[in-house]
Amino acid sequence: MKLYNTLSRSVEEFTPAPPAHIGMYSCGPTVYDYQHIGHMRRYVGDDILIGVLKYNGYDVKHVMNITDVGHLVSDADSGEDKMEKGAKKFGLSVWDIAKKFEQQFFDSTEALNIKRPDVVMHATDYIAEQIALIEELEKKGFTYKTEDGIYFDTAKDSDYFKLSRQNPDELKKGARVEFISGKRNVADFALWKFSPEGEKRQMEWDSPWGIGFPGWHIECSAMSMKELGPSFDIHTGGIDHIAIHHTNEIAQSECATGKEFVRYWVHHNFLVVDGEKMSKSLGNFYTVQDVIDKGYDPMALRYLYLQTHYRQEMNFTWESLTAAQTAYHKLLREVATWDKPTKGITEFEERFSEAINDDLNTPKALGIVWELVKSDYSTAEKAASIAKMDTVFRLNIFTNAEKEQTINFPQEVMDLVKEREDFRKAGDWAASDELRNKIADLGFAIKDTKNGPVISKK
Ligand SMILES: [Zn+2]
Repeated sequence: MKLYNTLSRSVEEFTPAPPAHIGMYSCGPTVYDYQHIGHMRRYVGDDILIGVLKYNGYDVKHVMNITDVGHLVSDADSGEDKMEKGAKKFGLSVWDIAKKFEQQFFDSTEALNIKRPDVVMHATDYIAEQIALIEELEKKGFTYKTEDGIYFDTAKDSDYFKLSRQNPDELKKGARVEFISGKRNVADFALWKFSPEGEKRQMEWDSPWGIGFPGWHIECSAMSMKELGPSFDIHTGGIDHIAIHHTNEIAQSECATGKEFVRYWVHHNFLVVDGEKMSKSLGNFYTVQDVIDKGYDPMALRYLYLQTHYRQEMNFTWESLTAAQTAYHKLLREVATWDKPTKGITEFEERFSEAINDDLNTPKALGIVWELVKSDYSTAEKAASIAKMDTVFRLNIFTNAEKEQTINFPQEVMDLVKEREDFRKAGDWAASDELRNKIADLGFAIKDTKNGPVISKK
């Protein structure tokens, strides 16, 4: 199996360290606001990676954190705390904000059939571990104190830039703005921040250095090593984590333990909408719930994600989602009438395996699935191979194909829907509404979308 390792900037042969069980840590959400379809692309990507590892016979222990404290708006340790900011925005306590958006996150992952990590760790549950790690760094001389917190001295770590490959001199030039007083080097970062004098924060803890809260980065080092040991195989995150968050995780962990922290760094690229960065102000910020509310099957979104390689930027459009949904449902209809699986087809399974083992080439692997569907092999043989391939994709092809069969809408309803569309095109809204009621009386709801009507059982 080959995997791109950000550390070496190359596709490497994946050779996990013994024992055979693989430790994998993913940076989870900061639960202060809605998680959007760009975030979800990353978690589907992790899900696929785990699927491929298991397909290759590896046992995986997957750990993910929930950042419910200490993540400042700016990566440079200045600005507001994201949690406190979210609490203000939604008029809730920080603890309730954390609960609300963790739920929204897991609702989204569930709708996309993303498997829950084996271990989910909340940063607020591991404050003692974070303090212990900072103490270790302090003991080894990597920290210093400023008026605003305990900082990591990056000048003492000769390997500090090994992941980001940044040039420290270049960094200095660009960093005038957010320089915090007392910081020795531009890249230095907070391990522990003091609560502002005379201010009671909603989340704060006692520590050997005074009342305050941990810096964002320390939680991932403390929690990943607690569950997976000082050295483990895979760490994932978005490409935006390379320069600061993951760089700081490596520095903290390796300086504290003297061991290599992580062997393979996997980074997922972004998703843009209609070629633009997603933002609430542009009105192109979508959550999985928005996708569902527009009448789409969330599994069509999962299918759409697979069509772009995880290291490429993905351009989301509603047209592409419609096309993915059409393809996905076509696939379900194809397999719905197949015979029970017997023995798979080696030729196709080998090609599939080659594609996914080539740095998770899901677009290619999906193409092979379609080639197999259209091939002349018996449906029993095809079913066996597709079922195996779907352990990687987790599109629930066979179970959803069965469900799809049960939503064969009656002809009477389909005729009414078509008739109503004709009225709508002619602008006859009264007649169109009357037919909507008729359809409702038959037990079906109709929803008009940009891409035509979507029918569902009421
Ligand atoms: Zn992290």
